[in-house]
Amino acid sequence: MFSRKLAGIATGAALALGLAACGGGGAGSDDGAATGDATGGETGGAASDMIVGVAMPTKSSERWIADGDNVKAQLEELGYQVDLQYAEDDIPTQVNQIDNMITNGADVLIIASIDGTALTSQLEQAAANNIPVIAYDRLIRDTENVDYYTTFDNYKVGVQQATSLLYGLGLTDLEGNAAADAPAGPFNIEIFAGSPDDNNATFFFNGAMDTLQPYIDEGTLVVASGQTDFNTVAILRWDPATAQARMENLLTSTYSSGERVDAVLSPYDGLSIGILAALNGSGYGSDAQPWPIVSGQDAELASVKSILAGEQFATIFKDTRELARVTVEMVDAILKGEEPEVNDTETYDNGVKVVPSYLLESQIIVEENVQEILVDGAGYYSAEDLGL
Ligand code: BGC
Repeated sequence: MFSRKLAGIATGAALALGLAACGGGGAGSDDGAATGDATGGETGGAASDMIVGVAMPTKSSERWIADGDNVKAQLEELGYQVDLQYAEDDIPTQVNQIDNMITNGADVLIIASIDGTALTSQLEQAAANNIPVIAYDRLIRDTENVDYYTTFDNYKVGVQQATSLLYGLGLTDLEGNAAADAPAGPFNIEIFAGSPDDNNATFFFNGAMDTLQPYIDEGTLVVASGQTDFNTVAILRWDPATAQARMENLLTSTYSSGERVDAVLSPYDGLSIGILAALNGSGYGSDAQPWPIVSGQDAELASVKSILAGEQFATIFKDTRELARVTVEMVDAILKGEEPEVNDTETYDNGVKVVPSYLLESQIIVEENVQEILVDGAGYYSAEDLGL
């Protein structure tokens, strides 16, 4: 019925027509639901006939549970049906789930991919069935068949992670401005990156390394292991146990003759937990051997508590409720034949095209601003959740 998938089509009218044509059942569905509801081009059918497939990577991290819950609840509030699936970080599982969503008649797909390059044939199927695709938080790479991207400013997240370390070492303030009374160092630092198949991992790494490099160049920071290459420091599937093992190896190979590790760039709270466990196993976290400054990401509950306990030093707060909100608004616009709002059309080149994006802002969390930002400001946690 359509030579190109509908969200790639420029005009809202064409969009509405496309939806009317494929009906509420979407691809592979012959239930005929909502056919003809689009008269006037206002809607593609009753929301209750529309199915939104939501593919999330894993339940092993709180943030994705919250993302899935928030997206589902907000879509259901607008009357849409939601098919929410988690793949436990297993690529074939996610591939099957998306295949099934298409077969079961999804009208839009929201995908937080495990491997951003592994979904090409599923997305071809989606395109062939006029199903618009929104990449959620993680860019889907090397395909024409992704229509929109909702995420945070991921390069800036990396800058903030590095800045939290510089702040913890007394070198800058929380905005990254040089501290007047900055110590000379040198400080030993070790670098970790996220999963190499997650496009975000490179953005976080580049933002962080661009921020740390001047300090490394002038000798204030020393990567004592010498390991700074992305592929060397990346942790496949963001696995905490792998991060713990790598940190243990670093402590043995580089810090076993009395040298101290002063800071660790960790891109995700789960990795930070593994890294802290390795450090603790080597005697860090005591009066004699205080914790190094360790960064993180996601402001997960256990990690915010760890920050309050003086273990992990910092995390990055990304309000997943907001990410859900902008994504759900996008879905709603698409299904009503309207133009979804984006605020970035330059940054996220997926290798085939620049994907129109909506980027949100993130914030550095350290012990002294937990109450102000997470509790009083965002209401992300209650004082009670955090034992405050
Ligand atoms: C997300 C981070 C998260 C990481 C591990 C990334 O794609 O942007 O928020 O920490 O995946 O789950």
